[in-house]
Formats: sequence, structure tokens, C-alpha cells
Amino acid sequence: MHSLPAHLLAIAGAALGTPWLACHEARLLSKGTPLNPGLLDWARQAGIANPGKARFLSTSVIPLPAPMFVRRFLDKRGFPCIHLAGLSLRNGIYLSDQLRDPNETVKHELIHTRQYQQAGSIFEFLRRYLFQCLTDGYSDCEMEREARNESRR
Ligand SMILES: [Zn+2]
Repeated sequence: MHSLPAHLLAIAGAALGTPWLACHEARLLSKGTPLNPGLLDWARQAGIANPGKARFLSTSVIPLPAPMFVRRFLDKRGFPCIHLAGLSLRNGIYLSDQLRDPNETVKHELIHTRQYQQAGSIFEFLRRYLFQCLTDGYSDCEMEREARNESRR
């Protein structure tokens, strides 16, 4: 994709996604479970600030700010929107209740939590993330590769 439309789409997506994401983060912070001591240690070593604030919640359907037909359309084009293992909303993490090894997914999502912290705001994280997905593709983009590589440690 040409980079000017990708920049504009990333900004528009971040502007639309930020309020939704902040609302779900608040929901997760009030309803979710804190990390166990092993994951807290792992998170500190991985450079995540305040991992004690993180909360996760297992659910059968991970919510996204898009109707199902859009989710199916994106899923067929390589952006997982139907069978997600997890979703990081800064300090809140949704997890699929179908996971055999939830720890690896929690670690993956915690690396995204660190990326939110590095970006400085939900908006800026989303803008960077969407831009990378639009230009490099979901699985090849730098932020996903970083999360995949570091969650295996
Ligand atoms: Zn990811």
C-alpha cells in the first residue's frame, strides 16, 4: 500500500479505536485477574513497567471494535479477527478460553503492553501498529515479530 494512504488510515483507525480501547481497558482493570508471581517476574525482566497493574480476562469471544462481517473480511486477508488467542489493551488483556498454554499468549500480549508504554499513549500505539500492519502485513510487521520472539523466552 502507498505510504500516504497508510499514514492517513492509521491515524483514522487510531482515532476511532482509542475510545473503544480505553473503555475495554477500564473494564478489564476492574474485572480481570492479576498476573501470577512467575509472570510478574518475567514481565519485570522483559522491561514492562508496573506489571502489577496488568489484568487479564478469559473469554469465549474476544471483542473488537468492528462488526462481524468486517472481522470475517479482515480475517480472510491475514489479519486475525475471528480466532484470536489474545488482545492487549495496554494494561488489560483479553485471552481466549480455548488456549492450551495461556502463559505464552499472556507474554506475547505483555510485550504489546510494553509497546504501548514505549509509544506513550493508546492513540500513538494504535497509529504505529496499524501503520505497520498496513505496510508490512500483520505477521511480518515489526511489533508482531517483537512480541512473537520475546514471548518464547
Ligand atoms: Zn500480537
